[in-house]
Amino acid sequence: MKRWHVGVEKLTGEKCAEVIVEVPTRQLDRPFHYQVPHQFQPLPVGSRVIVPFGARKVPGYVVGYSIPPAGVNLKPVERILGGGLNKELLDLARWMSERYVCTFAESLHCVLGPGREKKNVPKGLYVTVSKQELTNEGLPLKQEEVVAAALAQPGMNKTQLAKAAGVSTSTVSTLIKKNLLLWATDSEKAAASTVSGEPPTLTPEQQQITADINKAIDKRKYIAYLLHGVTGSGKTEVYLRVIAKVLRMNKQAIVMVPEISLTPQIVAVFRRRFGNKVAVLHSRLSAGEKYGEQQRISTGEAQVVLGARSAVFAPVSRLGIIIIDEEHEPMYKQEENPKYHTREVAAYRAKKNNALVLMASATPALESYCRAEPSGPYQLLTMTKRVKDLPMPSVSVIDMRSELDAGNRSILSRLLQEKIKYRLEQKQQVILFINRRGYATFIVCRRCGLVLKCPHCDISLTYHYDGYTRCHYCGYTRKAPETCPSCSDQSIGYFGAGTQRVEKEVRRLFPQAGIMRMDGDTTSRKNAHQEIIDAFKAGGGDILVGTQMIAKGLDIPNVTLVGVVNADTMLYMPEFRAAERTFQLLTQVAGRAGRGSKPGETVIQTHTPEHYSIIYARNHDYLNFYNQEMQMRRALKYPPFYYLARVLISGEDEEHVMSVADGIKTVLSNKAAAVKGQEQEVTVMGPAPSGLSRVQKRHRWQLVLKGRISGVVRQVTAEAVDLWRRNNNIKDIRVSIDIDPQFLL
Ligand SMILES: [Zn+2]
Ligand SMILES: [Zn+2]
Ligand SMILES: [Zn+2]
Repeated sequence: MKRWHVGVEKLTGEKCAEVIVEVPTRQLDRPFHYQVPHQFQPLPVGSRVIVPFGARKVPGYVVGYSIPPAGVNLKPVERILGGGLNKELLDLARWMSERYVCTFAESLHCVLGPGREKKNVPKGLYVTVSKQELTNEGLPLKQEEVVAAALAQPGMNKTQLAKAAGVSTSTVSTLIKKNLLLWATDSEKAAASTVSGEPPTLTPEQQQITADINKAIDKRKYIAYLLHGVTGSGKTEVYLRVIAKVLRMNKQAIVMVPEISLTPQIVAVFRRRFGNKVAVLHSRLSAGEKYGEQQRISTGEAQVVLGARSAVFAPVSRLGIIIIDEEHEPMYKQEENPKYHTREVAAYRAKKNNALVLMASATPALESYCRAEPSGPYQLLTMTKRVKDLPMPSVSVIDMRSELDAGNRSILSRLLQEKIKYRLEQKQQVILFINRRGYATFIVCRRCGLVLKCPHCDISLTYHYDGYTRCHYCGYTRKAPETCPSCSDQSIGYFGAGTQRVEKEVRRLFPQAGIMRMDGDTTSRKNAHQEIIDAFKAGGGDILVGTQMIAKGLDIPNVTLVGVVNADTMLYMPEFRAAERTFQLLTQVAGRAGRGSKPGETVIQTHTPEHYSIIYARNHDYLNFYNQEMQMRRALKYPPFYYLARVLISGEDEEHVMSVADGIKTVLSNKAAAVKGQEQEVTVMGPAPSGLSRVQKRHRWQLVLKGRISGVVRQVTAEAVDLWRRNNNIKDIRVSIDIDPQFLL
């Protein structure tokens, strides 16, 4: 922390609260002293307050107590807000502001989350099981009457319900303890069901891994596990078993899944096992609901927290384990300040609490898998077999170059068309998949498959509107060619078909079919994608065309064919992780098709079927993919061998953006040159237009730093940008830092 008041001046003697105020100005990111009026005392560290600041009243956080220097004009704290942070989360926020080079106020805001202020949401008692299941339970007469009353009028409180059933409130309490009644808001109730049914028998692999982790839980020491389990190997059941163990030790568990996977179905899986010990945190909760769940978590009433990325900040006080499902998902890194990675925050919290971290995926991120090598900090667990001895799903790869040779200019190959036709006849459903991030324009020859790449960075060149193509890492520039430099064909061009174009083509080819589309345009409304999936599942369409978001529709039993319309839009995304993301996406898509009773298959269309990421995805071969991709990364000096940082400069006037970028480059280069020792060397690339060179009228240019030592890269970036900011006050230009960026678009 910089510029704290220190006691070198004459002191007044009385300790005052140090408050970080929530104002978006970096220069004010330091504690200010405030008096605490008697009626607010004691005011614990971590409290949220309203304080006078200049002429305004602003929210802030109490981060400590100290004696202010004499002569400081002290004002009193005005008001106390609900919520607040415990000591552990306060320390976490402090660490995050250094680790991710953002303000303390930004990390505090992030850790606490928005809308923690208390609002009352009516709660009531709801029956959690069906009538049939109740009959099986064979309840005593009095309890049965309570259930009947609760079914007749859901949402009553304890006293009302006891009165309605003509019993004492203790009878109602018994049913709550049995998880047959749930004290919940209506929205929670929708997802609720009770602890029921025998858990399935574990496969030998599941058994072994569960036993290993349970042993580690007994030791109460920090360990980070990476579970590499093929799709369909039953990772969720492993989570449920180790959570049960954590609960038996009276500790709490945090389970994170990607936001799009946080469906009512997955919530129901956890509730069936753990009843109302489960708290769910997601972005669709109202502020009041969120407050209610946070309360249940911090009091320990909720022992299992299920949520998306931000659940990593759940205010648990007895942390036992943090589970990160689909740990390779890029959305585990936040793209706004603080640009934290969930894996790192989880490890930080688990270490402080002597708890475990369990990261799991069928396609672990390279960063994670290399840390799970024998000398690395993670321990590797492996599941190679699917449950119920199911075979790995069938995948075919179509070479789109031969389609062109055969005179088929459609974006759908003949084989995919045939297979769609067959599914339509069988009254089965089809999903056609398009890459969401395909909008950066790269250049490919449809005849020979050549993709223009930067000779220095090996990433695709992107087309800029001025007729030139550029590398947006190093700035290399060449004129966009009119014929293919390799085969001289004129089929070279910019492409990437959007969902609308694919939808149009499918309508042309299959005029009788019911076609649904799901993408950013159709799903901007809250819950809209769940509604589309539900409608499709209910038979509302034959073919669903969509982006990444439809991944969760792949579990629909009647979907027996998944077509990846163009694997190249992901493979030639101008990112060094393009091959990794392609492999992950194709493996995940293929792994989910046809999990029902009917066998499913996947068809992948590409102009470069010989690319290793496509070959290994088709063969479900993670290890060979990993080894080959690691060789590339080592040769080209990319993560996980090197660490990156990005400085993004954006503004409406491109000339201005470019000159600021040049200015920052000079400061960065000077800082980098001052670093001693070859191991520590940091190189500065750019400035270059970013892959998405214009977003909402703003031009975006970037500088990319690269080095072997993570801390050195971060320090050079932070110090240089800080120095530049102190000497330049430019209002219409935004400068943002991303440490270990997931995307360089
Ligand atoms: Zn060519
Ligand atoms: Zn380059
Ligand atoms: Zn531009």
